[in-house]
Amino acid sequence: MQGTSGAGHYSSLPIAVATPAFMRDIARGWHVDGCTIGLVPTMGALHAGHMSLVDAARRENDRVVVSVFVNPIQFAPGEDLDSYPRSPERDVSMLRAAGVDAVYKPSVADMYPPHASTRVIVHDVTERLEGAARPGHFEGVATVVTKLVAATFADRAYFGQKDAQQVAVVRRLTADLDLGVEIRVCPTVREADGLALSSRNAYLCGPEREAAACLSRALARAAEAYGRGERDPERLRTILREPIEAEPLATLHYAEVVDPSTFSTPGSLAVLAVRIGRTRLIDNHDLNVAYPG
Ligand code: AMP
Repeated sequence: MQGTSGAGHYSSLPIAVATPAFMRDIARGWHVDGCTIGLVPTMGALHAGHMSLVDAARRENDRVVVSVFVNPIQFAPGEDLDSYPRSPERDVSMLRAAGVDAVYKPSVADMYPPHASTRVIVHDVTERLEGAARPGHFEGVATVVTKLVAATFADRAYFGQKDAQQVAVVRRLTADLDLGVEIRVCPTVREADGLALSSRNAYLCGPEREAAACLSRALARAAEAYGRGERDPERLRTILREPIEAEPLATLHYAEVVDPSTFSTPGSLAVLAVRIGRTRLIDNHDLNVAYPG
């Protein structure tokens, strides 16, 4: 089998892996060889935020698998599953340049065959904010992450702080199910004006793109107030809301300051969800840390 023996690197990197069975065979071979495996789950349309996860995985593991799978079961009805940005050729060339070992691109039919009837449900942390706004979203995330970890024998899995509630869900899930995978969290990569990189930013037209900077303005103002000693939750929420409400193209979904593990109040993680035109953006910042820039 291609690329499963020896600890050296291969000329034909990355290996394209299309089925869970083939992924398991490759990963099992790596484990037998004593290699550690880092998994970076993505939905493709890769950008520098994704690549920061890949770089961390590359530094910390002998083998790196990047999954590229637009997971249909994490999209609620009426969300953007069909229009979700896709750039398969560009993704593979970026991953080749980054030196990953395998790109795991299973089909929807292989991940969810007609007889499949198992879902992974995480309680509590999934019931607020993103979970409340997007019914079924975290059930879809928990199910696919469990399947990806199982198929790749991952020692470590890499997630972005940008999706902070997803991090909390994945930490809970992997601990509760004894998956034995270490969850590594990488800082949010931002544009010069503070907008967090996201595949969905491609939806923003010119004026919307400018308006989208209101999220990072709000987080920066909240961090500044917290740094000056502001601890009143209502006051912090107001400070977060103001720059969003001042932006005519923005509609606020939520602005809260929560505990980063439970996503309940009180806490020190400022979280935002904002709609700009038809694009829903989320962002967050740990108020104990000065806002970058
Ligand atoms: P996605 O393809 O949107 O599902 O994202 C795949 C992974 O990349 C998730 O763990 C995200 O949190 C992470 N990610 C997305 N955007 C960023 C960013 N701007 N900085 C760091 N990580 C990110």
